[in-house]
Amino acid sequence: MSQIPMVDLKTQYNHIAEEIDNAIKKVIHSTQFIGGEALSEFKSNLSKYHHNAHVIPCANGTDALQIALMAAGLKPGDEVITTPFTFVATAEVIALLRLEVKFVDVYYDTFNMNIEQLEEARTERTRAVIPVHLFGQCCNMDPINEWAKSHDICVIEDNAQSIGAHYTNHLGTARRSGTLGDMACTSFFPSKNLGAYGDGGAIFTKDDELAEKLSVICNHGSKVRYYHEAIGVNSRLDGIQAAILNVKLKYLDQYNERRNVAAHNYKTLLQDVVEIILPETAEYSDHVYHQFTLKIPNGKRDQVQKHLNSKGIASGVYYPVPLHLQKAYYSPNFPEGSFPISERLALEVLSLPMHTELDMETQSRVVEEIKITL
Ligand SMILES: *Cc1c(COP(=O)(O)O)cnc(C)c1O
Repeated sequence: MSQIPMVDLKTQYNHIAEEIDNAIKKVIHSTQFIGGEALSEFKSNLSKYHHNAHVIPCANGTDALQIALMAAGLKPGDEVITTPFTFVATAEVIALLRLEVKFVDVYYDTFNMNIEQLEEARTERTRAVIPVHLFGQCCNMDPINEWAKSHDICVIEDNAQSIGAHYTNHLGTARRSGTLGDMACTSFFPSKNLGAYGDGGAIFTKDDELAEKLSVICNHGSKVRYYHEAIGVNSRLDGIQAAILNVKLKYLDQYNERRNVAAHNYKTLLQDVVEIILPETAEYSDHVYHQFTLKIPNGKRDQVQKHLNSKGIASGVYYPVPLHLQKAYYSPNFPEGSFPISERLALEVLSLPMHTELDMETQSRVVEEIKITL
């Protein structure tokens, strides 16, 4: 039996190989490896995709978060609220900038920020909040924005996993993730929903002044070459990656649709397995299934993963240790038990193979093997 991987970037590439190869060749022939036409084209198309928000490309999603925090003008000791159930980058950049990480727990059903805990976590030093749109669906952004606005707190969406998703507010107005906060960050890591063939990232904002600040920070704090008005970083998306992403952006909605079809198939195949809790979609968001994440309670998750492994079927535990229990982020303020939902999810979650090339036969095989173990 052949192996079943988490993602299949090879088959995806094969379908668009000619377009991709031509785009890469064009950049090489132009020798515009940094900046250049491919980058401006991608910037402009990505902006259109995001209701004409400013787009500031950078080197990766982690940089995007760091640069957004720098542009927010926070001072050492200022506090930033996020959740412990996320990829480490979200908290890492807060700590790197000598800001204080504050956590709130997540909801068991959506894996996203528990907005009822925000006010309790707030102090006079709280200056920013980073809601993470985890696994492919949006946090409940209107209440977050409203709360943040009334306390002069900057909202930075971590949209690394949910590019292309929509948030629908109580009035029924739908807006794209990445256009909902003061700033938003995304990642073009190869396995993300819009993946490059290397590293890449971007920051989004509708605010002209912030957009200017962000692009200055990305470019060594400089507007005029060799004159530096702010402390910046060197963080760029290169021309070849921009050209590849520009091709793939055209297919993003189609790719997200295919992920939805695959998610629907899994849900149908798994619907009467009582030991499994299927992923749920909140009423205020659609889902782009960056991950298809099951919950398998009662200590059975590891045995399922072990069995899948023995059959050559990949699966993932995102994330096995919540950030407040990581050695690097340990604080006596957040001992074990502080965020019970995140801690419980770390023991129960299992993400199944999910990508744009999945077929029913493969999915049936995955589900058959899961059923054997339960
Ligand atoms: C992938 C990811 C990042 C970081 O992106 P990189 O491009 O790998 O630096 C940040 N936050 C979340 C939630 C992610 O999934």
